[in-house]
Amino acid sequence: MREDWLKRFADSPDVLKSAQRQQTVVPVLDLEIGGGEFVTMAGPCSVETESQLMATAHHVRQAGAHILRGGAFKPRSSPYAFQGLGLEGLKILAHARRETGLAIVTEVMSEDDVPMVAEYADILQIGSRNMENVALLEAAAHSGRPLLLKRGLVATIADWLHSAQVVLDHGNPNVILCERGIRTFETATRNTFDVSAIALLKQISHLPVIADPSHATGVRDLVPAMACVAVAAGADGMIVEVHPDPAKAWSDGDQSLDFAGFDEMMSAINPYIALREIASRGMKRRASLREANEMLLAGAAK
Ligand code: PEP
Ligand code: MN
Repeated sequence: MREDWLKRFADSPDVLKSAQRQQTVVPVLDLEIGGGEFVTMAGPCSVETESQLMATAHHVRQAGAHILRGGAFKPRSSPYAFQGLGLEGLKILAHARRETGLAIVTEVMSEDDVPMVAEYADILQIGSRNMENVALLEAAAHSGRPLLLKRGLVATIADWLHSAQVVLDHGNPNVILCERGIRTFETATRNTFDVSAIALLKQISHLPVIADPSHATGVRDLVPAMACVAVAAGADGMIVEVHPDPAKAWSDGDQSLDFAGFDEMMSAINPYIALREIASRGMKRRASLREANEMLLAGAAK
């Protein structure tokens, strides 16, 4: 790791790679996030109805998703937009979990809600707008559930790591970082996907890093390309919005894939995943060749 990065991120020491900690693997049911396999979390932006969520859960599962997403508590840009079904939404998520076996990731917005949401969720999502809400981070950390920590809309990588450090300080090692795009001067896309943050974090941090190509772009047609880019950058997985009928979605329809679009994206990322495995085997082989050469040279020098 670069010396100057060690200094730059020195105030979040426990999230940085060290000799003892090269990679955190977050266990979720029988899955491992950060364990080498690319993990896909998929589902609607908001839980709307039982039938909407069930149809989506069954579809994404058979298309290869590992975890079901769906918001029951929604942080919306407009105070007049749909705010989520709350507890009723959590119960629908629990039903989908029972029926499909998929683990659930869902957002918690307030520290008061943590015990209730943690009862239903396998992973607690901390949304972008709450990344620096320390009271929420502490309460969520104490729940013992793994946390999906989304990058704040205007958070630097250092700000983001500070929040992860807070969670680790409160005794919860299972933090998954999620790059979901940042605000820039560009307005053609909803946010700007900072893919370099993924590559950088994979070098400096032992925490798993995933991408959210849906919120990163705000545009359905850009999601598959950004998913491929995320794989190439080394992401441990992604979270993506899928809806049975995006035109009728109660939130984030423009960036949601329909079922056929999700299937296409899942096939599109496969060659990138295969390539990444080949590249990583090559890297390991080169490293062991280098080591063997060094041993030979050391032997010859004696
Ligand atoms: C979401 O996942 O639907 C969401 C609100 O995300 P973010 O916090 O990244 O805006
Ligand atoms: Mn959304």
